[in-house]
Amino acid sequence: MSSGTIPFKNLARKNLADVQLRGNLLRATQHSLAARASAVSEVPEWELLRTAAHAIKKEAVDHLATYLEQFEAQVQASGGHVFWAQTGRQAAEHVVAICGHHQATLAIKAKSMTSEEIGLNQALLEAGIEPVETDLGEYIIQLAGETPSHITAPALHKSRAQIGKLFQEKLGCSYTDDPQKLTQIARSRLREKFLQASVGISGVNFAVAETGSIVLITNEGNGRMCTTLPRVHIALMGIEKIIPTFDDLQIFLRLLARSSTGQRLTSYVSIISGPRKTADFDGPEELHVIILDNERTSILAHPHMRESLFCIRCGACLNTCPVYQRVGGHAYGWVYPGPIGAVLTPEMQGLTRGRELPYASSLCGSCSAVCPVKINIHHMLLWLRKSVVDSRRSPWTERLIIRIFAAVMKRPRLYRSSARLARLLEKLFAKRGKGLPVPGWSLHRDFPPLAKQSFHDLWKQGGLS
Ligand code: SF4
Repeated sequence: MSSGTIPFKNLARKNLADVQLRGNLLRATQHSLAARASAVSEVPEWELLRTAAHAIKKEAVDHLATYLEQFEAQVQASGGHVFWAQTGRQAAEHVVAICGHHQATLAIKAKSMTSEEIGLNQALLEAGIEPVETDLGEYIIQLAGETPSHITAPALHKSRAQIGKLFQEKLGCSYTDDPQKLTQIARSRLREKFLQASVGISGVNFAVAETGSIVLITNEGNGRMCTTLPRVHIALMGIEKIIPTFDDLQIFLRLLARSSTGQRLTSYVSIISGPRKTADFDGPEELHVIILDNERTSILAHPHMRESLFCIRCGACLNTCPVYQRVGGHAYGWVYPGPIGAVLTPEMQGLTRGRELPYASSLCGSCSAVCPVKINIHHMLLWLRKSVVDSRRSPWTERLIIRIFAAVMKRPRLYRSSARLARLLEKLFAKRGKGLPVPGWSLHRDFPPLAKQSFHDLWKQGGLS
């Protein structure tokens, strides 16, 4: 874990000055929001589904150990292997060890934010294993040498023209910005890799305790190729991916696709219960499931924060957030961007590193309103701000201003004299054609004019009737 503070403000400022980026972000997020709104409007029982999903996640998280052990037993009963990783490093080392055991020099990957979280590509490269992302968005990002800027749409910050130029430069093909042609180019390059790889690595959308099944939700078919073509499949999941029963799945399937891409159902829903059986037509000979903690049990122990483990990574809170829409995912400085990233990063990377992130919000509550599992995201951000202040990690100037403010508010006479002084200053600045300069406020907008008379004066004059 890096110890430096993520400079959100600086990164955001840089991105705000990038006109192309802002246009790309706004177009993509508005498109997703419109698709979501239309898909949600078709489901009159949407709120009931959200409430049910919240209850299922609460049940799973409240009894996490029980359900995880049940899941482990079921995976093992169906012939799979389970590895418990306390840290990201342990998880990455285990993946490398499995690849080494099979003498793999190439590993194909289906999109997994968890693998980004643990820096898996770097670990594979250091071990001499070539990781190849097969999700189109991730493939673009890998070619560009960047990190994803969105949970479900990693290359959302790039325009078609930028992707066309990237393909031309990195793949040596003719320039095109036609999405179908670009997809065909990527597909033909990736096809060779699918056929060569002996190890496929995927994430997990849901892990069903009752049956030991892992569920993958994708749109491109690459997930299914990654989990069926290679001889070995490694699935990487955070402990929070567990749901108790197979029946629970139907609720999440309806919520996730609509919240994420505005689809009624994603193109592929793969339910994997163990490695290939004798009578099976296809599938891997070996299935390894890595169950990752990586600070999640610390979140679990925190009564104000544990709800963040309910997240199903749909990305809706990112799309709707007025801050994310303008600054994009890279401003958040770590794997998880947007409102849920502003909650998860301080929890997983530490409050010192993520101390600017809880302030990356207008606290409008739009994130909580769209969340399909009803996570109270903006309340968590508020709680984290309190933690930043309580732990004296906020800037000293801010702390001083708040102390002066508190001292003034507690003393009526001092308050009245300060108000008179403020009115005097306001008049002086008005003569120069300026508003009252208030640090941090009047840099980008005017401070509202003070009332001509204070409430106290009006009260004394009996002018309130
Ligand atoms: S917090 Fe809610 S809205 Fe945001 S990604 Fe997670 S599930 Fe989706």
